[in-house]
Amino acid sequence: MRFDVVTIFPGFFAGVFAHGIVRRAQAEGLVTIEALDLRSFAHDRHRTVDDRPFGGGEGMVLKPEPLAEALASLGIGPKAQDPNRPSVILLSAQGRPFTQALARELAGLERIVLLCGRYEGVDERINQLYCDVELSIGDYVLSGGELAAAVVIDAVMRLVPGVLGNEASGEFESFGAPDSQIDADRQGVPRSQHGAGGLLDYPHYTRPAEFEGLRVPEVLLQGDHRQIRCWRREQQIRKTFLNRPDLLERAELSVEDRKLLKTIRDQMGDVGVK
Ligand code: SAM
Repeated sequence: MRFDVVTIFPGFFAGVFAHGIVRRAQAEGLVTIEALDLRSFAHDRHRTVDDRPFGGGEGMVLKPEPLAEALASLGIGPKAQDPNRPSVILLSAQGRPFTQALARELAGLERIVLLCGRYEGVDERINQLYCDVELSIGDYVLSGGELAAAVVIDAVMRLVPGVLGNEASGEFESFGAPDSQIDADRQGVPRSQHGAGGLLDYPHYTRPAEFEGLRVPEVLLQGDHRQIRCWRREQQIRKTFLNRPDLLERAELSVEDRKLLKTIRDQMGDVGVK
């Protein structure tokens, strides 16, 4: 899969993607990441890419012409003229929320192009004419789209087939696809072995068995895999209830899961958590 990032800080991405899985995925040719310097598409001696906002107000706005030229250099024209071109994503605090489900969708594409805003943002006509989707990585304002682009690239590229050592491991994490549960059902896998299924992941432990007075839960030390699966499922439900109760509304819960949830709710009610 190929990612092209249009940015005024191309050097930002060299360090971010020089480590771990993303470095290996590039070395193995599974993923290509290219950062394109927006300033190379400016035409004055100061390499100006921003200008004052029409209507007045604070700050500067990224001009449309250098962005359109940068996209043209990547072979990308206005979306109305070429519906089959690669998807163009505008990073923006006003965008639709970036989620694991969206990361899975994007991982199925061959190429995506990401536009990083700066200052007050990008001239809106670039969004209208060239961008397929505006994505936000959270309800806060960053100083530029580069960090957001790096987040999107990281989350997407690890779902590209072959990038994670174990192909299935992406499905068994927090926000794992509910679909993976359905596939697992078809293959006769017990429910408690399914992917996270829209819930958060369970807690993980490694050696030593005791650390600063805290012991690893006994169930994990005893080798009873059925018990371990039940414990992990309960932990998933508990953690999701505590940290992200909104996810429970959409998660696929079995009758057993619902019983667990009721017990957890009753317990938490006792300690005053809603
Ligand atoms: N005036 C904009 C607003 O209030 O929505 C904020 C502009 S911000 C200072 C500059 C750039 O950072 C944006 O154009 C966008 O590319 C990026 N950015 C900021 N917050 C972001 C977020 N939560 N998700 C994705 N990109 C973000």
